[in-house]
Amino acid sequence: MQTNVLGYPRIGSNRELKKANEAFWAGKISLEKLQLTTRQLRRQNWETLQAAGIDLIPSNDFSLYDQVLDMCLMTGTVPARFKPLMESLASASSLELYFAMARGYQKNGFDATAMEMTKWFDTNYHYLVPEFDASQTYRLLYNKCLDEFKEALSIGIHTKPVLIGPVSFLLLGKIKDEQLQTADLLDQLLPVYIQLLQSLQKAGATWVQIDEPTLVSDLTPIQQSFFLHAYNKIKAAVPELKIILATYFGGLQDNTALTLELPVAALHVDLVRAPEQLDTILPLLPSEMQLSIGVVNGRNIWKNNYDQSLTLIKKATDALGEERVFLATSCSLLHTPYDLDLETALPSQIKNWMAFAKQKVQELSELKQILSGNTSLLAINRDAMKDRSTSSIIHKPAVKARLLALTAADATRKSAFPIRQKAQEEVLKLPLFPTTTIGSFPQTEEIRKLRADLKNDVITQEQYDEEIRKSITDSVRWQEDLRIDVLVHGEFERNDMVEYFGEQLEGFVFTKNGWVQSYGSRCVKPPVIYGDVERNAPMTVKWSSYAQSITSKPMKGMLTGPVTILQWSFVRDDQPRADTTLQIALAIRDEVTDLEKAGIKVIQVDEPAIREGLPLRHADWQQYLEWAVRAFRISVSSVEDSTQIHTHMCYSEFNDIISNIAAMDADVITIETSRSQMELLEIFSTFKYPYEIGPGVYDIHSPRVPSVIEMTELLEKAIQLLPARNIWVNPDCGLKTRKWPETEQALRNMVAAAKNMRVAVKEIV
Ligand code: GLN
Ligand code: ZN
Repeated sequence: MQTNVLGYPRIGSNRELKKANEAFWAGKISLEKLQLTTRQLRRQNWETLQAAGIDLIPSNDFSLYDQVLDMCLMTGTVPARFKPLMESLASASSLELYFAMARGYQKNGFDATAMEMTKWFDTNYHYLVPEFDASQTYRLLYNKCLDEFKEALSIGIHTKPVLIGPVSFLLLGKIKDEQLQTADLLDQLLPVYIQLLQSLQKAGATWVQIDEPTLVSDLTPIQQSFFLHAYNKIKAAVPELKIILATYFGGLQDNTALTLELPVAALHVDLVRAPEQLDTILPLLPSEMQLSIGVVNGRNIWKNNYDQSLTLIKKATDALGEERVFLATSCSLLHTPYDLDLETALPSQIKNWMAFAKQKVQELSELKQILSGNTSLLAINRDAMKDRSTSSIIHKPAVKARLLALTAADATRKSAFPIRQKAQEEVLKLPLFPTTTIGSFPQTEEIRKLRADLKNDVITQEQYDEEIRKSITDSVRWQEDLRIDVLVHGEFERNDMVEYFGEQLEGFVFTKNGWVQSYGSRCVKPPVIYGDVERNAPMTVKWSSYAQSITSKPMKGMLTGPVTILQWSFVRDDQPRADTTLQIALAIRDEVTDLEKAGIKVIQVDEPAIREGLPLRHADWQQYLEWAVRAFRISVSSVEDSTQIHTHMCYSEFNDIISNIAAMDADVITIETSRSQMELLEIFSTFKYPYEIGPGVYDIHSPRVPSVIEMTELLEKAIQLLPARNIWVNPDCGLKTRKWPETEQALRNMVAAAKNMRVAVKEIV
């Protein structure tokens, strides 16, 4: 039985890729130095996999920025706005063009915005969205895939090149010109793919991995037909090349029959996400097809449960024989951190339950050794599994009991919204079009340094608290001066909206170096939720109540919601996500209760990640939305009618989930709408959304300061759609990435726009 790794993290064990890229962009290192670094990174990866005895070692899984962007350049999918730049460059494979497409370009008289970015399936990795427009002629602009295959060969390693398949590449992109047909585009792309595959075959490649992860999503019959069309053509052109068709992040379900018809040498399936599909596939697998079974999870940081994997492996080998089975990672290991060995500060018991990319590769080889009789490796693994399933630092009877005791009443406010709205109006006495912000204020160098100094024991807790208090005081005075109606304390004490809470909750640990790529050179270090979650002490009350104590205006308490904390962490695989979320919800509920007790009358629970948690298959949406909404409601339902609950989401594509958003029963929701000119607000109008809404009027993603007129016009659009009584005035999102001067001017203009509206509406009445 051979082992197969679908892809390996490329950022380097110390984020060398990030550092090299950023230094190159800043003009601090040469192109040669960048290339040297990336060559070393690739070599290290290949040698790690070789040393672990992996049979199918991936190449072209490396990317300087993004693998979908690589595919765009390999196929000539260059958006029209980059054509002038491309033509001006000596070579089309120039990194100048590559990074221009990734990051935008404003130089030498050229001005082109970056390609759009979006999440890669249900991961937190972002890819650049291919744009198909009428100007493109698809051709092999440069052959990165072949270059890297040869690079590995030159150091004696025979690799399996990895490509994103033509159908997924198309379906993940955007067709910019209406007259373009997907089927025609596919026919234009296929010759490029074929040329590429022929070049690999000529260079001596035996296996090529072609990723078609869209096969685990809902496909229309036409989309399904693209696969057969594409792979028949490929088979005819490169009959000798062995193609391993990779699917991951879910089960094939209704695409199973279609997939098994494709003329490929092997199929890879994700048995971590969808173990049940093995039973369906085994009897149907064509006799000439091999099966790669993904049993080692590429999406988390937990040690593999060998007994569970062995059951799956045995089932496969019993049916197919060892020769036909590949033992594999479930997907690319891109989504896991590099190397657990580098974590010297993790509690050793918890560390013994974990595995990062390097360890996961080792797991594949251990599983193979166990199959050939090494029982001690199995025994060691069983010990770790047993320790984890019984550990008292994970399993807390009190938390589990509290979850079991939850009733519908715990997820229900005392009264319905109309009664609450009245009670809140009486207590808060806000004007029409009340103004507020989303929570954070600019995170200056000094603030970051202050937090770092506390962490590194350069300053005392008292010194730190004093400085934070000063920042809060300044920001309160400043908001009062601007005449904002509902104030925030500014979130100066928070590095990150999840980490801040995780650090104070039981059941979380933090790694020192557990980075995963988010996009380009950006990496994130998600917290690890390993055990039952519990709040020991208030987490935000100190700063919120201090801020409230120095002003007579209402101060908004600021919390992160349970779904967002879940989504942006590595979560347990030993209980359903819903249960972990509910545990977090109870911790947030306790915080909400304490904030109210401390005199906070407005509390915002941010849930920017609800939408991205939607399952890949539509059929699974309702179930997810039900527990996600329930978790939110449990978080906020302990309060009196007069306490106003806000939520915030950094987008406003609510068309398909509007009834669930309404079911959250939040008194106020603030959303992003400025860039869409309020268009995205329409669904709230047609749905007759009964709650209050703050449609963002200020695009915080840009340093640009919107004028009073602009924002007034946006609000005028909003009152065409929604009752004036329900409208709040606020930016699209938090202001932590902005600078102070522009923030001040923008908010001043925002308050002026709200005043204009108050006058205008009075005139109408
Ligand atoms: N309260 C957070 C902030 O203002 C919200 C951030 C977010 O929505 N992503 O930064
Ligand atoms: Zn936001």
